[in-house]
Amino acid sequence: MDIKLRKVSENIYEIPQEKGMNVPVRVYANDKLIEKMKEDKTLIQGKNVASLPGIQKYSIVMPDGHEGYGFPVGGVAAFDINEGIISPGGIGYDINCGVRLLRTNLKYEEIKPKLREIVNEIFRNVPAGVGETGKIVLSPGQFKDAVEEGLEWSYREGYAWKEDLEHVESYGRLKDASIEHVSDLAIRRGIDQLGTIGSGNHFIEIQIVDKIFDKDIANKLGIYEEGQVTILIHTGSRGFGHQIASDYIDLGLKKYREEINKLPDKELVYLPFQSEDGNNYWKSMSAAANFAWNNRQIITYFIRKSFQKVYNHPVEDIGLNVIYDVAHNIAKIEEHKVDGKKKKLVVHRKGATRAFPPGSEELVEDYKNIGQPVLIPGSMGTASYVLIGSEKSMELSFGSSAHGAGRNMSRAAARRSFNYNEIIKNLEEKGIYVKSTTKEGVVEEVPEAYKNVDEVVKVTDELGISKMIVRLRPIAVIKG
Ligand code: 5GP
Ligand code: MN
Ligand code: MN
Repeated sequence: MDIKLRKVSENIYEIPQEKGMNVPVRVYANDKLIEKMKEDKTLIQGKNVASLPGIQKYSIVMPDGHEGYGFPVGGVAAFDINEGIISPGGIGYDINCGVRLLRTNLKYEEIKPKLREIVNEIFRNVPAGVGETGKIVLSPGQFKDAVEEGLEWSYREGYAWKEDLEHVESYGRLKDASIEHVSDLAIRRGIDQLGTIGSGNHFIEIQIVDKIFDKDIANKLGIYEEGQVTILIHTGSRGFGHQIASDYIDLGLKKYREEINKLPDKELVYLPFQSEDGNNYWKSMSAAANFAWNNRQIITYFIRKSFQKVYNHPVEDIGLNVIYDVAHNIAKIEEHKVDGKKKKLVVHRKGATRAFPPGSEELVEDYKNIGQPVLIPGSMGTASYVLIGSEKSMELSFGSSAHGAGRNMSRAAARRSFNYNEIIKNLEEKGIYVKSTTKEGVVEEVPEAYKNVDEVVKVTDELGISKMIVRLRPIAVIKG
């Protein structure tokens, strides 16, 4: 397909509105990243999204954007709460896939001699791999409470410290969550999966602070010096969220066939937000989001236990406090300015991170004055970043930022081009220890399969949608 692409200014491209589109497309990328996006369906998908009912301002593609199911990964789309829609493909199969960053009081020299022992202990306590079950056994009633109450449940059950809840997007609970319209199959798939990582792209990474760009804000996040150890957790709602997404995609394809057939791609399948079906998906999606927050919390609980065992020290001395936890596959009801007026919108962020500036009403108390922390992982062989939401995000991206480096290469292409032993050797030479459940998992996740995270972050920072605060680098990675 022929795409008309116009450069608006540095790092901003536009696909102008034409027949069939309700708004233009905005792509935030530099010249190199945009060339990459032309190689797959990223830009076409961004354009397709612009045809959806009730979409506001523009369909947005972030610098880490790449092809996904219907909507691009690295996509943001906001819909009018009355006229608009909610689309499972605009949220992603892994509902509330997200990242959580922990800080420690340890320095590199203190973890180095114990690194393998720590990794092995975490690997034992936090199951990784496709269908793995966790160590926590729940009754159906407990599971219902967990997904309806989010992190308040974890706190009540002793898996969370009170302060953890203060450092999680939306305090780790979407209040509309209900299990009532969730299928039995979704519940069956999810009930024994809390506290598990999952496969492929999901990971637990031990890192050290490589560079601090803004000392003031870094200090407020609990990061004080280069060489300090941090831990990054990336996972989502496992089989539970995946089944909810599948169920509502199937429902939409059946019930809204006529509307869907008019769309440029049936993967854009949606439910009108103000319909019973839309409402049921919203409540179920919220339950999956709460599942994911509990999942990252229970993993945190087991990481704390693992450190405590290996160091034989009270965990409070080691640190392991939550810096922040972001959702990067989710829809949220938020107020944004459109044509100078405040409007309630259903903001879809699929492979995108909320990046609200300082002063935003919705920020957790501790970060109200500095803005929302934004966590951007890179790959198991490169840097990851902590940024902070800033003012321009409200004007340019409905308060959103990038969520990763973004894939550069399909999993199949990575398998064709790379070899497990060589990857491990290269990483070892860089001082990175990798432990995984499968060899293919590592090959598919080879650092070269991802775009250059430094460039993605640079564009994000230059645009002013979020500001670079800290760069982290991996020393050990547990992969699903
Ligand atoms: P996604 O949620 O789209 O699957 O992944 C988010 C981002 O995580 C990817 O775009 C990639 O940049 C990053 N990523 C994937 N694997 C790893 C890893 O092992 N370590 C780190 N730090 N980042 C990773
Ligand atoms: Mn995921
Ligand atoms: Mn993810």
